[in-house]
Amino acid sequence: MDTTTIIAVALPVPLRRSFDFKVPSGLGPVRVGIRVRVPFGRRRLIGIVVNIKDSSDIPLQRLRDVAEILDSEPIYSSTLFDWLQWIADYYHHPLGEVLNTALPVALRQGRFLHAKQILYYRMTRLGHEAHPEFNRAPVQKRIWHALHSRPLLSPSQLAELGKSWRSALGKLIDNGWVEIVKVPPTSPSQEPHLKFNREQTQAVESISASLGSYKCFVLFGITGSGKTEVYLQVIRQVIGSGKQALVLVPEIGLTPQLVKRFEQRIGSRLAVLHSSLSTTERHRSWSAARDGTASIVLGTRSAVFTPLLNPGLIVIDEEHDLSFKQQEGLRYHARDVAVLRAKRESIPIVLGSATPSFESMANVAQSRYDLLRLGARPLGAHLPRIDYVDLRRIPVEQGMSRTLIDAIAKRLNTKEQSLIFINRRGYAPVLFCSACGWQAQCKRCDTKLIYHRIDRKLRCHHCGLEDPSPEQCPDCAATSVVPLGEGTQRLEDRLRQLFPSANIVRIDRDSTRRKGELEQRLSQATAGTADILVGTQLLAKGHHFPMVTLVGVVDADQGLYSVDFRATEYLFQQIMQVAGRSGRATSPGQVLVQTVHPDHFHFSLLQNHDYTRFVEIALKERERAQHPPFTHFVLLRAESTKTGVGLLFLEEARKLAIASKDCRQKGLQIMDPVPSPMEKRAGRYRAQLLISSHSRPPLHALLDELVPRLESHDLARRVRWSIDVDPMEMY
Ligand code: ADP
Ligand code: ZN
Ligand code: ZN
Repeated sequence: MDTTTIIAVALPVPLRRSFDFKVPSGLGPVRVGIRVRVPFGRRRLIGIVVNIKDSSDIPLQRLRDVAEILDSEPIYSSTLFDWLQWIADYYHHPLGEVLNTALPVALRQGRFLHAKQILYYRMTRLGHEAHPEFNRAPVQKRIWHALHSRPLLSPSQLAELGKSWRSALGKLIDNGWVEIVKVPPTSPSQEPHLKFNREQTQAVESISASLGSYKCFVLFGITGSGKTEVYLQVIRQVIGSGKQALVLVPEIGLTPQLVKRFEQRIGSRLAVLHSSLSTTERHRSWSAARDGTASIVLGTRSAVFTPLLNPGLIVIDEEHDLSFKQQEGLRYHARDVAVLRAKRESIPIVLGSATPSFESMANVAQSRYDLLRLGARPLGAHLPRIDYVDLRRIPVEQGMSRTLIDAIAKRLNTKEQSLIFINRRGYAPVLFCSACGWQAQCKRCDTKLIYHRIDRKLRCHHCGLEDPSPEQCPDCAATSVVPLGEGTQRLEDRLRQLFPSANIVRIDRDSTRRKGELEQRLSQATAGTADILVGTQLLAKGHHFPMVTLVGVVDADQGLYSVDFRATEYLFQQIMQVAGRSGRATSPGQVLVQTVHPDHFHFSLLQNHDYTRFVEIALKERERAQHPPFTHFVLLRAESTKTGVGLLFLEEARKLAIASKDCRQKGLQIMDPVPSPMEKRAGRYRAQLLISSHSRPPLHALLDELVPRLESHDLARRVRWSIDVDPMEMY
C-alpha cells in the first residue's frame, strides 16, 4: 500500500486554487498551517499547507516533491486561520495571496518563525566598581561611560558610539563588566491623575464590562474629547489580566508622539508595526505579538493580521479613515475584517472617531454596534467658527476668492498660520457652470456625468450614456462651463505670487514621497515656522496644528458634485477633522469654505458642527438612492494598454453574470461596463463594471460562479483585472 503523504499548498499566485505536492519521507512532519518551500514551474515558492490528504486528482508520479519544510508549528491559531480563509472567500481573492499579504515580509522570504529578539546590554556590579583607563580604546571608553549613566543600551544605541562597537563591547563583556539582557524590563508606566468626566467613565465601564466576549463599540467623540485616554484606561485593564491589545491607527496617524504616549503610559512591552520599519524590525514586532512578549501592538492597516497569543481587545482609531482600505491586491478593509476577527476571538472591539463612518453609524442605528459618546473637551477649547464664501457673488481666480486672500493676509500680519485645504478625495472631473451652479447630470440615472478629456465627451459611469460636452450652460447660457476642480492645481503658485515673503509648506502625496519628508514638513507645520500650509487630505489626519487659526477650504463643491456617492461624507468629515485640529484654547479660529451653494443643508449642519444630524439625513438619502450601506456594491475593474480591451473583458463578465443562475435573484443588478472616470492612467485604459445587491448571499453566490469563469477566460490574459468587494472609491 502506498503511504505517500500528499499536501495541498496555498501559493502566492493569482489563481484561486491550491496545489498538491508529495512529501518525501525523511523531510519531517507536516501539519496544516506551516510553511513549505515547493517547486513551481522553474521557480521555488513558499506557501502554506492548507490540507493533508491521501490522494490527489493528479497521478502520483506527476506530483512534485516538497523541497523544504520551514516550520514545526502552525503560524496561526485555528481561529485566525479560519478567519483568513473567510477573508479569501469574502473578497473572492486567492487564499495563497491572502496568506501572503497577512505574513510579514521576513516570513514570506523564508526566515525563521521566531524572530531573534534584541539583546540589550547593561553594566555589571563589577563594571560599576571598576575604574578602567581605556587610554588606547576610545570606543570601549565611550561604551563604558554610556552604560555607566544609563541602565540599558540596545545594539542600535551602541552602534552610534563607534564603528568597532562590537569588538569593543566584546572586550568589556570578557572583562565581566558588561552583561547581556534578553528582554528589556518593563519600564514603569506613568499614570497622570486625570479625573475622567461622566461620559469617559461610562465609556470605560461599558467596554470593561464586555471584556471576554465580543461586542463592537463606536466611540464617537470630537477631537480632543479624550478618546485616547479611554483606550489607554481599558488597555491597562486588559494588560493587567495578562491579555494583549491590538491598536490600529491610520497610516499617517502613527507618529513618534503617539508611540511615546503609549510607551509612557503602558510601559515598554509595546510592538510597533508600520511600513517604514525594516523587514527585521517588523518581524521582531510580529513575533513578539505572537509569542506574547508584547502586550500591545500599535500598527497601521496590515497589523490587523498580527497573531496574538492572548487577544483581549482591538481598537481602531479614526475608524472612518480611508487608509484602512487597501486599494490594490487584496482589497480588504482593516476595520471590517477586524470586527470579524473580534467576533471570532470573542473579544470587544472599539471603533473610535470624531466623524464615524456611515457604515458604522448605520450599524449603530440597527443596534448591531453600541454607541459611546464623548461630547465635551476636558481641556476646554472651542470649535472654530465656520463661514462661507459665496462664489456666485465673489469671483475666484485660480482657486481663491478675495475674501480668502484677505483672511490669509490678516493672519500673516498677526503671525498666525493659515491652512489651505484642497479636497481631492473622490476627484473626478465633472462639468459645472461657475455662473449658476448647473452641472451635467445623467438623463437616465441619478448620477453626475463625467467629463472625459480624451474625446471631450460626457459619460454616465452607471448606465453608459454618452453626450458631447456643451459649450454653453443649458440653464443660464453662460459660457463658463468648466470641469470642476481645475484651477486648484496651481494654487500653491498663486499663493507664492500673492505672498512672496511667506513661508509656504505644501503637504500632499507628491511633496512627501521621500522617506522622512512628511515628518519634516509636519514638524515645520506644528512648530509654527511655516506661515501657510497647503495640502490635501493628508492634513486632515491625526495631527494637531495649534498655531493654525484660519482654515480655507477652496473647493468644497468638489464634494457636492462628485460622482462618488461618498464624497459628501468625506468632505464633511475632512472639514470637521481639519477644523478640529486647528486653533488654540484661547483663539478658536475660523474656517472659510468656498462654495457656490452656501445654502446647501450640509453646510448649515457643518456650521453647527452637527455630525449626528448630518449622518441621519445623509443616510436617508443613501437609503432612497439605494447606495451602500443599504445595498452592497462590487466593482470589477479591468485595464489594458490597448483601448477597449478592458471594456470587452467586462462585457464578457456582464454576459456571464447575466447568464448565471444567481442573477435572477431579486435585488441583484448588473450594470453596463463603462470607461473609468479617469480613463487613462499610467498608459493604461481602465474600465469598470458595477454589480449591486440588496443582500449579500446572492451577490457572493454570483461571484463564486463568475470568478472562476473569468479567471479561465481567454481575454483574462490580455487585461489586468480585479474584484473590489465593498469598494470605497468608485473609480
Ligand atoms: P482624543 O483622542 O479624543 O483626541 P485625547 O485622549 O488625546 O483626545 O485627549 C485630549 C487631551 O485632553 C489630552 O492631552 C488628554 O491628556 C487630555 N484629557 C483627556 N481626558 C482628560 C480628563 N478627563 N481630564 C483632563 N485632561 C484630559
Ligand atoms: Zn449656468
Ligand atoms: Zn446614467
